[in-house]
Amino acid sequence: MSSLPTIRLARSIVGEVEAMAIARVIADGYLGMGNEVKLFEDELADFVGVSRGNVLCVSSGTAALQLAAEAVLQPGDEVLVQSLTFVATFQALHAARAIPVPCEVLSNTLTIDLVDARRNMTPRTKAIMPIHYASYPGDLDAIYNFAADHKLRVIEDAAHAFGCRHHGQLIGSFGDIQCFSFDGIKNITSGEGGAVVTSDPVVLEYVSDARLLGIERDTQRRFAGQRSWDFDVKRPGYRSHMSNIMAAIGRIQLRRFVSEFAPKRVEFSKRYRQRLGAIPGVLLVDTDLGSITPHLQPIRISNHRRDAVRAALQDLGIETGIHYKPNHLLSLFGGGQKSLPITELIYSEILSLPLHPGLTLDEVDRVCDAVASILAGN
Ligand SMILES: *Cc1c(COP(=O)(O)O)cnc(C)c1O
Repeated sequence: MSSLPTIRLARSIVGEVEAMAIARVIADGYLGMGNEVKLFEDELADFVGVSRGNVLCVSSGTAALQLAAEAVLQPGDEVLVQSLTFVATFQALHAARAIPVPCEVLSNTLTIDLVDARRNMTPRTKAIMPIHYASYPGDLDAIYNFAADHKLRVIEDAAHAFGCRHHGQLIGSFGDIQCFSFDGIKNITSGEGGAVVTSDPVVLEYVSDARLLGIERDTQRRFAGQRSWDFDVKRPGYRSHMSNIMAAIGRIQLRRFVSEFAPKRVEFSKRYRQRLGAIPGVLLVDTDLGSITPHLQPIRISNHRRDAVRAALQDLGIETGIHYKPNHLLSLFGGGQKSLPITELIYSEILSLPLHPGLTLDEVDRVCDAVASILAGN
């Protein structure tokens, strides 16, 4: 056991400024969905570079994915999606009564393998849901070309990719539909929360009403400081809106992202790659730290040594994670009936090292030294 403080895998970086913003909402006397959410949506739209009105905040990234899927899919429609993702992706599709069809990933980027996706197509395939794994969207052009060739909608699970770019353009500023997560440990947090970004008016109208129990145009009334008393409801809806408290936290985090969070995450990830890339037995995942802000720091440990390395790191007070248990192995999503050999191999090798803006370079070095020394057999 080490006497050094534990190095956490992830954590929320929130403090005095967020607390003051919450206090302001409390003093204002309305904690529900009101003007603070409108301001957060506008500021997100300005940041991403889309029209105000094209960003809709919801209660979680999972809700964003579910509502986006419901907006464009019919029950029973199939969605091509990599098995190697957080179960939230699969549960969101399941809740939307769509069928997630688990696909392989490319072993270099851990993004969806389009050759395998093509093999999994049926006449019921209506969408593809790419995951920007560890914030890197991979060959997103190829994904959009694939979707265009097969007339599929693209719903990007951009939970890891807030503030990340592809060909210089921010994720959310181009393409079909993007869903962000602002849960406690993502690139920015609103406590919990998420957003749907699109320019499709049908999706915008659906998500806008569905997040507020299906009450028609309730969003517009709330943003005008009113409530709906005489209204119609034509479709099912949920309590999936964002609160003023959440938005107040998110607004501060958005301001801190560029100056504070993004540079730290990139700096630490660069150090990890420099130090670990040279160690035998460690494989890095392809990325582009010039364009992205990494949410995770995944490495692969070969030769069946991952679990031993993870246990030894734990003994040294270093927390790690496994992103993710593949969904096709979960009972609800097939229980391993289907075999995805590449995904299963990666699941046995993948290890996420501590990455958050509250670390120091010394701590990153401590993690790298530990990995090196464990693999060298010391
Ligand atoms: C975090 C995450 C989600 C879900 O977001 P929540 O805000 O936690 O509901 C979806 N997909 C991926 C890949 C995630 O990492």
